[in-house]
Amino acid sequence: MSARLELQSALEAEIRAKQIVQEELRRVKAANINLESKIKDLEESIREMEEHVDTLKKEMEESRSRSDKGLKLPDFQDSIFDYFNTSPLAPDLTFRHTDVDATQQKSETTPSSHSTSSKHEDGKVAMVPATPPPTSQSTSLTSPKPRAHQLSIKMFSSPTQCTHCTSLMVGLTRQGYACEVCSFICHVSCKDHAPCVCPIPPEQAKRPQGIDVQRGIGTAYKGYVRIPKPSGVKKGWQRVFAMISDCKLFLYDVPEGKSTQPGVAASLVLDLRDEAFSVSSVLVSDVIHATTKDVPCIFKITSSQLISALSPVSLLVLAESEAEKRKWVRILEGLQSILTKNLLKSRQVHVLHEAYDASLPIIKSTLSAAILDRERIALGTEDGLFVVEVTRDVIVRASDSKKTCQIDLIPKEKVIALLCGRNRHVHLIPWEALEGAESTFDVKMTETKGCQALTTGLLRPGGPACLIAAVKRQVQCYEITRSKPNYKKLWEVQAPGTVQWLGIVRERLCLGYPSGFALLALQGETSPVSLVSPGDPSLAFLAQQTLSALHAVEVGSTELLLCFSQLGIYVDLQGKRSRTQELMWPSTPVAISSNASHLTVYSEYGIDVFDIHTTDWVQTTSLCKIRPLNVEGTLNLLSSEPSRLIYFSNSSSEGELTIPDKTDHSRKLMVRTRSKRKFLFKVPEEERLQQRREMLRDPELRSKMISNPTNFNHVAHMGPGDGMQVLMDLPLSVMPSSQDDSGKDRPRPLSSISRQQRSKTHITRTASGTCL
Ligand SMILES: [Zn+2]
Ligand SMILES: [Zn+2]
Repeated sequence: MSARLELQSALEAEIRAKQIVQEELRRVKAANINLESKIKDLEESIREMEEHVDTLKKEMEESRSRSDKGLKLPDFQDSIFDYFNTSPLAPDLTFRHTDVDATQQKSETTPSSHSTSSKHEDGKVAMVPATPPPTSQSTSLTSPKPRAHQLSIKMFSSPTQCTHCTSLMVGLTRQGYACEVCSFICHVSCKDHAPCVCPIPPEQAKRPQGIDVQRGIGTAYKGYVRIPKPSGVKKGWQRVFAMISDCKLFLYDVPEGKSTQPGVAASLVLDLRDEAFSVSSVLVSDVIHATTKDVPCIFKITSSQLISALSPVSLLVLAESEAEKRKWVRILEGLQSILTKNLLKSRQVHVLHEAYDASLPIIKSTLSAAILDRERIALGTEDGLFVVEVTRDVIVRASDSKKTCQIDLIPKEKVIALLCGRNRHVHLIPWEALEGAESTFDVKMTETKGCQALTTGLLRPGGPACLIAAVKRQVQCYEITRSKPNYKKLWEVQAPGTVQWLGIVRERLCLGYPSGFALLALQGETSPVSLVSPGDPSLAFLAQQTLSALHAVEVGSTELLLCFSQLGIYVDLQGKRSRTQELMWPSTPVAISSNASHLTVYSEYGIDVFDIHTTDWVQTTSLCKIRPLNVEGTLNLLSSEPSRLIYFSNSSSEGELTIPDKTDHSRKLMVRTRSKRKFLFKVPEEERLQQRREMLRDPELRSKMISNPTNFNHVAHMGPGDGMQVLMDLPLSVMPSSQDDSGKDRPRPLSSISRQQRSKTHITRTASGTCL
């Protein structure tokens, strides 16, 4: 019995043990499954990582080979170098010497180093090989101690390339150095980096270094092409010289007639770094006025005008042959992809906005402007002074019909100085006029008749307000007060020449006259300081020609930048040159404005912006016929059809003016209010009702009426790259599914949708992993 009991208990123990083992086995199996799925997940992620490493490796190799050997695009490299080696233009280009007898000699010699150096009778001629050029090693071994180039600043009369960096020598005069002995030519900034072996070894003279892809410096292609005549393709084509240099496309007019040499003032500069820059072939339908045989040789370049209200501008280019056209298109496309890869996108100093509805009739006749506050601008027009309240569409007529060429605000005395009328007198009116109140005074300063330049400021920090007006050579200084008689003459001086520009620089009066600038104490007691010191021989060239004085600006605490019609020069406060580097204008300037960091140069094709501290040319925007309306250049008039008021916002003007939302109905009218000086700019009631009826009748218009916003100003300026970045940087948090569902039916902003979608895919993947 006991044995039986024992057996039974043993059996029970065994069953229990088996159960435990089974339990254990089940647990282990579950753990195994779990582990297996985890391994699968890990394997998946390892594969992904390997792929990622592979692409990274490839990218690294690519960038290394690019930096090592320059361009590595199929076809592209060859086309550039082939072109350089067979360049038809290089021997055509000549440069003009400033000294007369050298011109004669130079024009007879070709820019080949052989003939030039053999002309020298210093006994060392034998060293110059007449037979096949040596390789670079043999030159360095056999030639005696290398001689340095004899460099001097020259003026080139046609677009010329730097022998060192191959870039275009931008500028109207004194574009760079040229060697008196050989054909070596270089930028001022390249002088210290160029090898100084004179004469230049033939292979260096011929070697086209192409472009430095890391910095985008160098010339990629050049040649003659045709563009439509100003009145359109219908009227035919005109010949221009085109050059792709330093990420920009330069076009130079070629004068008609026997002389086929292009001048040095560019007729158009387009930046390849522009977000909207594109190049493409054309269809017959794009160029209905071109002849059929021309169509395959035509390509189209599109660039933005950076204002959403304006459509991008397109330029048609007719190449000499179909093969030439393909070359241009391939090179432009290739360069653009390099720029994108190397993130050489343009830095935008000025962001352009349309400041007010272009259908406002007074914009067309605007001559001057001033920003009064965040929501008001004053416009000086052919018919007097107006104030536009940009957000409320209220227009105030502030002064009576007199042509107003300049507006100067004197906030200290609450007085406004206007340069106006046919006789260009300075007028003083009270601040209240801006609000539409009847003027308590309108003082005409009789002695300012024929005023060419006007500026205002304070006599000393915290001191009384003053106004300086220039009539021919005469400079008059007045103290301005709000109470009668409103102005009092303090002093008067004669400038060395007709005054062309006036401004306050470093608490002193700066006046510009032909080929010179001077600083004067505002109190008038000290003698003026010429900013072109006769004691500096490097500035003597200024006196030899007549250059218009356009603008001056202080650079830091020790320098001034003097801007003339041909170039910009840095000087110290004593008028001695402070930098060898001069600012080179790509085209003839028609106006110049500045802020604390940048200089904006206006020319026939648009604006070019320079960093005044580094001298870098940082922005170029083609906007034909744009002119500044105020001294700072923040408000500008674009003479398009219709004329547009353009506001430049930049880091230093941030938040200065509110940009109103524009609804481009063009049906708005100036409607008089009860006050005879105030107008509302709006769609008249009847018109509005009519418009509404029409819209409701037409289903397409109706949908437009309730559809998306039409003002994409902010989106356009953000650019696609920036936009993507914003999305990528969003945190990838896993959303609880309940919240996800509840949000499904509601419309959500773009960013939140993308975040949720991303997190959703993440959840799906992990879920499927654990199931396996
Ligand atoms: Zn030389
Ligand atoms: Zn250079």
